[in-house]
Amino acid sequence: MFSDKDSFKQAYLTKLIEGDGITPEDASLWDKFSALVILLKDQMSQYRANNRNSMSPGKQVYYFSMEFLIGKLLHNYLVNFQIEDLVREGLSELNINLDDLLEQEADPGLGNGGLGRLAACFLDSMAFLGIEGHGNGIRYEYGLFEQKIVGGNQVEVADSWLKNGYPWEMRKPNKAIIVKFKGNIRTAQTNGRITFYHENYESVLAVPYDVPIVSYNNPLYINNLRLWRAETTCGELDLACFNRGEFNRATSYKSEVESISYILYPDDSSRAGRELRLKQEYFSVAAGLGSIVRSYKKKNELGSLHDFSRRVSVHINDTHPVLCIPELMRILIDEEGMGWDEAWNITVNTLSFTNHTIMPEAMEKWSIDLVKSLLPRIYLIIEEIDRRFKEDLTRRFLDDEEVIRNTQILKDGYVWMANLAIIGSSSVNGVAKLHTEILKKEVFKDFYRIFGYKFNNKTNGINHRRFLLAANPKLSNLITEGIGPIWKEDAGELKKLHVFKDDSSFLEQLAIVKYENKCRLAEKVKAKQGIILDPLSIFDVQVKRIHAYKRQLLNVLKIMHLYNQALKDPGSLTGSQTFIFGGKAAPGYHYAKTVIKLIHALSQKIEHDPQVNQKLKVVFIENFNVTQAEFIYPAANISEQISTASKEASGTGNMKFMMNGALTLGTLDGANVEINDAVGDDNSFIFGLTAEQVLNFNRHGGYTPWDEYHANSDVQKCVDQLSSEFFDNMGEEFRVLYDSLMIYNDEFFVLKDFCPYIQMYEKLQKLYLNQEKWNRISLVNIAESGIFSSDRTIREYADRIWKSKYRTINKPTS
Ligand SMILES: *Cc1c(COP(=O)(O)O)cnc(C)c1O
Repeated sequence: MFSDKDSFKQAYLTKLIEGDGITPEDASLWDKFSALVILLKDQMSQYRANNRNSMSPGKQVYYFSMEFLIGKLLHNYLVNFQIEDLVREGLSELNINLDDLLEQEADPGLGNGGLGRLAACFLDSMAFLGIEGHGNGIRYEYGLFEQKIVGGNQVEVADSWLKNGYPWEMRKPNKAIIVKFKGNIRTAQTNGRITFYHENYESVLAVPYDVPIVSYNNPLYINNLRLWRAETTCGELDLACFNRGEFNRATSYKSEVESISYILYPDDSSRAGRELRLKQEYFSVAAGLGSIVRSYKKKNELGSLHDFSRRVSVHINDTHPVLCIPELMRILIDEEGMGWDEAWNITVNTLSFTNHTIMPEAMEKWSIDLVKSLLPRIYLIIEEIDRRFKEDLTRRFLDDEEVIRNTQILKDGYVWMANLAIIGSSSVNGVAKLHTEILKKEVFKDFYRIFGYKFNNKTNGINHRRFLLAANPKLSNLITEGIGPIWKEDAGELKKLHVFKDDSSFLEQLAIVKYENKCRLAEKVKAKQGIILDPLSIFDVQVKRIHAYKRQLLNVLKIMHLYNQALKDPGSLTGSQTFIFGGKAAPGYHYAKTVIKLIHALSQKIEHDPQVNQKLKVVFIENFNVTQAEFIYPAANISEQISTASKEASGTGNMKFMMNGALTLGTLDGANVEINDAVGDDNSFIFGLTAEQVLNFNRHGGYTPWDEYHANSDVQKCVDQLSSEFFDNMGEEFRVLYDSLMIYNDEFFVLKDFCPYIQMYEKLQKLYLNQEKWNRISLVNIAESGIFSSDRTIREYADRIWKSKYRTINKPTS
């Protein structure tokens, strides 16, 4: 990229001056940041241009997702190009501090949480492995809201991440696509064939903005994240209207169109169900497939699509992009003149689908009336898919009404998107072993009988280069000193760390690194929120979206219990403890917002109680996002993964903590099961109901929270404190939480798991006193975390789902 520091400096200065004719003296930090980004982007374009011809065209993989939570790119790309030191020194000779420039970058909040972050990790691993794998999504003008906490309440602030521009993106107006909504369908017979004409539609222009994706040590593969923006087809505004004097009409048309890519829906694991959301889904699907087909026809001389599914894979991240299925059918039939059967074969073989949740409230369904009016041709195709599927099924399962009903796409006035996804794609995968088993045996058991061959598991993974190599440089250096650098490319190499299990000097260094990362987090929190953290205390961390099934409430009850104990018996607390929370609540989710309020109230209560405030501290870190995550995971001692068993499909936060040496305190849920398998019971701290037990209670009943309440005075005390004057002046504030437990039968088994949770926590508390033992467990966790690299996940997708080739890493033979 740059042969040396001086050639970098030269190139950088040229870029800076080219920018707006500004001299280094006049340039703002933003100018300096953007010049660096543009310089890197230019270099990447050159790489791409130089290598275009040397690359044999492999299979093209497109990852369709409504969310990409990519985080800041600059630091990661400097690490990936292995030029961070060179750039840092070069800039410093120009009196520029690289860290100041890194601060300038916006963290694009184009996702809610785990699902969007997974998509971003996959983009990195595809580029790393040399897969031509591209992302397709929406360029939301406003990402997920920024969270402020005011007096314990979450306040949502608009995330205007584009306000200064986003120098990584490239607008490609010549690659725009027209997307059609509404209108009516006219049919006509031509040559004995029915042809469909879409008339009186409203057209929206989809304009792509491309963000380059480049991974570690593989500059040949610079992939694309293509994000679409909605614009009017007729230039800036409808001049005809405007000239007629219809000013409002002209401008309101423009804003109606642009609203499609205006904002990300802030609901995680629950449905938004709004017309605008359906528009967004079709918009990104139609734009994405439109441009894929166009470039396919350009590349393949005959321009025919008969071989499409051999050269192209389209993967859909949850059901949100499932309209890919009828849309590809529409293109093949209406635009390419193909017959239904061939079009169906190509469609099914092109598409694959990942399910992310078994929570019924998160299963997407759309009212038939809405789909019909917004997408008339797409609706007709869905209807025909449903009709043919049912016909086929009736032949095979004549007598089983139940199977037919459970697998219908259209029923009760709705289009059931998961059913469409399973019927219309060649592969259906869950995201952890347990989750996939639940899909097969429970949620989609009827589909599993019909399409057993489609179901498979792909346990999630994380980009270990972002969350370990780049986010935790101190640990990375220690690892590299110990086992050499190959782990950066092959995370499986981390297993070699086992040789240091009994090396007390290495274990001590590991502890020092952890301590320094805690100091680093403490500095950040102090600067941003003015709160002092004690890095000598144990950091017990739960950061993730706030949701009832994730059970932040269980964690809070635990802290209330420790507090109650400490008042009764001041000796009950061994060492001092910091409980760190972070995460956003959906703006309309009253329960989740009340949990945030409760965390705040408990934090205040403890802070103001001199009997305990030296030993206990509760902190809520504002605005949990990827940038914050990169400071938090490396600083944790305990990773709280305490969802109700069966509810968290996989989790990925659990993997990031593990890889950074935190010990897992968790239930047998999602990928926690696989973490536990990897490190064993001595090195992970598992408690509570199993998924099987939870599912049994759900099927047969038999759980009564009042039994737990009456059986244990500790439980009783904490629960009563929610509805008493324990929290000053909180009145009825926490009633919704109390009621969820005691009136609405504790759907998430918080009280059932309370005692085993406390017991396991106390075990960890004692263990922390034995630092050597703790450090050894921490080491084992890091050593076994390699299987949770998304490189492993993507190799599995490539082998079994996409059938695409990837590069292998040349290891020096030892
Ligand atoms: C990893 C990650 C998540 C997912 O965390 P879980 O603990 O798996 O729910 C959510 N948000 C951000 C910013 C993340 O980095």
